[in-house]
Amino acid sequence: MILMDLHTHSNYSDGKNSIEQMVGVAIELGYTAIAITDHVWKSSDWIDVFSEHIYKVKKIFGNDIYVFSGLEAKVINLEGEIDAASNVESKVDFLLGSIHRIPFSGGYYSISKGILDSEQRIYENWITSFENLLKNPRVDIIAHPLAELKRFHIELSQKQKEEIAELLDTSGKIVEINVKHNVPDQDMIELLRIHKTKVVVSSDSHSIEDLKRFYPTLKNLYTLPLNFVTLSELTK
Ligand SMILES: [Zn+2]
Ligand SMILES: [Zn+2]
Repeated sequence: MILMDLHTHSNYSDGKNSIEQMVGVAIELGYTAIAITDHVWKSSDWIDVFSEHIYKVKKIFGNDIYVFSGLEAKVINLEGEIDAASNVESKVDFLLGSIHRIPFSGGYYSISKGILDSEQRIYENWITSFENLLKNPRVDIIAHPLAELKRFHIELSQKQKEEIAELLDTSGKIVEINVKHNVPDQDMIELLRIHKTKVVVSSDSHSIEDLKRFYPTLKNLYTLPLNFVTLSELTK
């Protein structure tokens, strides 16, 4: 079995540990590959240092593990645009696209400030931004899909799930099964299997403790009969 974890955070953003510490534990756990995918914003000024750092780490640990550089970029509007400067994708191996806050025409919905809209409208705004994220050519991997709906306690019908699975499959993106957020759900994983959509299982670890804690679940998910992305697809 080839074990990869393509979504982790280091102390370049909100992770607790250094890149070397994260890579060291991934080697101990027997991973074939790990990606360090720190949170990026348009204002992030550390991308050059980060990518050079990972380039060095790749060489140091090259015999033990394949190390990828990545960034996790958040959707900022209904058009599916991401919060990342225009050239960052050229500096890393791949970009994760995620929705942390559901946008609407005048901002973002907020649970803490109170949800001042119907579930129907929130869903419509979510699906619009999600569909556009799937069309965004800058993004390679769709990180923790549907996690934000879960936070708003929006339940999907089987028909809606089937429509979303169709969108995911035709997008050509790699779809992440996220251990930390426990998304997507069993129904959606089954639909990803039926469609033979390219998937990856990732932990979204923010520390070496997370890496160890999420490892058994991650390993277990890799035993499912899914179309997992291969190392050669990622390195070509
Ligand atoms: Zn995220
Ligand atoms: Zn993350």
